[in-house]
Amino acid sequence: MTIAQETENRAESLNPYHIVQSQIEHAAERLGLPRHVIEIMKKPKRVLSVSFPVKLDDGTIRVFEGFRSQHNDAIGPTKGGIRFHPDVNEDEVKALSMWMSFKCGVVGLPYGGGKGGVICDPHQYSKSEIERISRGFMEAIADFIGPDKDIPAPDVYTTPQIMGWMMDTYSKLKGAYSPGVITGKPLIIGGSQGRSAATAQGCVYTIAEAMNHLGKPLQGATVAIQGFGNAGRIAADLLAEHGCRIVAVSDSKGALYQPEGLDLAEVKRLKDGSAITDYPAQYRLQRAEEILELDVDILIPAALENVITAQNAHQIKAKIVAEAANGPTTPEADRILFEKGVLVIPDILANAGGVTVSYFEWVQNLMHYYWSEQEVNEKLRTIMIQSYQAVSQLAAEHKTDFRTAAYMISLKRIHEAMRARGWV
Ligand code: GLU
Repeated sequence: MTIAQETENRAESLNPYHIVQSQIEHAAERLGLPRHVIEIMKKPKRVLSVSFPVKLDDGTIRVFEGFRSQHNDAIGPTKGGIRFHPDVNEDEVKALSMWMSFKCGVVGLPYGGGKGGVICDPHQYSKSEIERISRGFMEAIADFIGPDKDIPAPDVYTTPQIMGWMMDTYSKLKGAYSPGVITGKPLIIGGSQGRSAATAQGCVYTIAEAMNHLGKPLQGATVAIQGFGNAGRIAADLLAEHGCRIVAVSDSKGALYQPEGLDLAEVKRLKDGSAITDYPAQYRLQRAEEILELDVDILIPAALENVITAQNAHQIKAKIVAEAANGPTTPEADRILFEKGVLVIPDILANAGGVTVSYFEWVQNLMHYYWSEQEVNEKLRTIMIQSYQAVSQLAAEHKTDFRTAAYMISLKRIHEAMRARGWV
């Protein structure tokens, strides 16, 4: 029996907190890190759990729950987004904060990892209710975060406008204009050029490197994108500009597949209006999950965790899986894909463009001096390509997958910082 078949037979855990812990163990073992260091890495340093009341438009009060997790601050303040989603839970937020530490480590940012989340379905609320939820959560976490402590940003279903409201609430509470407390803000109040497109842009830089590595041209390559939020949608546009054929996209409502290439302008129009599933019916996939199994060159999971598992990994036909989402592939699926020779560009590398430009935004906020879009993109490109090459080289040296190599780079950095500070 191959390793892949063996692991497939075991029930796999889909708890992201357990998954990130097993990813740490796997890479730390290769590095030979001491046990106490592994134990530090496997848990967040602090987690705050909050509940706060919000007045809804009809006058009733609803109590919301949320979390903010700070994983490791040896290298610098913690950094990471805030997610608004009905499935948010403490283990997920903890895991996401840990992925942020390793993400910042791979691209060499002076940050540790943080993450926040509010349990809510933003689609059920009006704009003014979302504003009150955002301000309420910020009030609840304000003393826990700060420009030199922990710096939030957007994540699933949170927007620049939400960052703007949160920055405003924080600044009022502290009695001082504090743009550096949060990134992903609207441009006019201290946002950075290039931040909205940064996750997708960074992902595309790594895809271009990977295609180059495989000796395949980007021009004419076929692409399937699972998830059509900020990252998926902009990645579609950028890849189309590079001459790729976007043959499939999906969102929470369904999936489309048109082998000769989708009419992207039409898909975007439908996404903003009714639903992408209003696209001509003959291009609709029966099961939305089929999008992951299409015969394409590049597959981009750009939504949530655990979409590529031991159940479907054998069916993946893409040559490259670029993880714009956090945690889309389980460790079992990772092993299967590695055995099959699929190149997985792991989340902590593939989607690190977002936090990289968040770092640029924070630096600009602290200097009160702002860069052009071209400057931002040049700096982003340099970081993404260097990081890709470092990961690719280490993976080749250790004959391992890119995720393990990426973890090794980060774990080594964080360990060094903890040693330099005298923690271990
Ligand atoms: N939420 C994004 C991520 O998962 C961005 C985080 C940030 O910009 O701090 O990487």
